[in-house]
Amino acid sequence: MASSHTVLMRLVASAYSIAQKAGTIVRRVIAEGDLGIVEKTCPTDLQTKADRLAQMSICSSLARKFPKLTIIGEEDLPAEEVDQELIEDGQWEEILKQPCPSQYRTIKEEDLVVWVDPLDGTKEYTEGLLDNVTVLIGIAYEGKAIAGVINQPYYNYQAGPDAVLGRTIWGVLGLGAFGFQLKEVPSGKHIITTTRSHSNKLVTDCVTAMNPDDVLRVGGAGNKIIQLIEGKASAYVFASPGCKKWDTCAPEVILHAVGGKLTDIHGNALQYNKEVKHMNSAGVLATLRNYDYYASRVPESVKNALVP
Ligand code: AMP
Ligand code: MG
Ligand code: MG
Repeated sequence: MASSHTVLMRLVASAYSIAQKAGTIVRRVIAEGDLGIVEKTCPTDLQTKADRLAQMSICSSLARKFPKLTIIGEEDLPAEEVDQELIEDGQWEEILKQPCPSQYRTIKEEDLVVWVDPLDGTKEYTEGLLDNVTVLIGIAYEGKAIAGVINQPYYNYQAGPDAVLGRTIWGVLGLGAFGFQLKEVPSGKHIITTTRSHSNKLVTDCVTAMNPDDVLRVGGAGNKIIQLIEGKASAYVFASPGCKKWDTCAPEVILHAVGGKLTDIHGNALQYNKEVKHMNSAGVLATLRNYDYYASRVPESVKNALVP
């Protein structure tokens, strides 16, 4: 019998279970103790066994169920047979109970592009800053990020041995975002969250120009968007190339679904069609509220240095 659910909602429901599985892989690699760290472009651009296994798990599980999808994963891996143990076949039933927004009901599998960051915040992962880490699965249609799943494998890890570890946040534009409690920073407070491991003069110039009350330097694009929706930070400012489409696709959806805004440092929307270049060359500016306050304070010198 043909499924009564739309392709998009089936894909989001599967991505939820697949991101959860990836989260268990991320925890297992740490527990086993051998991170298998490889340097990619420089000492702050790392890949671990968890990045590799999680990407294999996510991409193979998605491709098996949705063979016509375009799937773009962060890691460059040799094409090889994936261990059956890494395949996740489940789908999160709660998502299938939700209505598909009408504008997405006729989407076909081949129209969708999925951006996968199997482990966002790898540098912090290798340093034991475990709650910075997320698994990101973003879904784009006609160049726009429309649905996304974020798994945070170590959510609650400092809450003691009885705490339930890990959580999954998901969202679809026009439907909402779920799996967390939306909270705002106290009004009038300007708290900026920015990179911990990939800073440079442009990044600090831009942050300083915004005259913040406080600056949080943490790892992960997914983690920083979670800070925005949970009232820990008011703006995510990263005035530098370095962040890629797989870093922003899923987090952008979650933020947009609750009324926030994510753009490059010039205020341009990010594009997610399969031909687009992976690098977000003109940086990232994201807020839950008061986007204009931050956008208006980006120095011209910073804008001139960052070509989209
Ligand atoms: P961060 O805020 O430093 O955690 O960066 C957010 C995301 O962008 C992470 O996936 C980083 O790996 C990536 N990123 C940012 N800057 C760079 C860079 N200079 N080199 C490599 N990856 C970067
Ligand atoms: Mg990343
Ligand atoms: Mg990554």
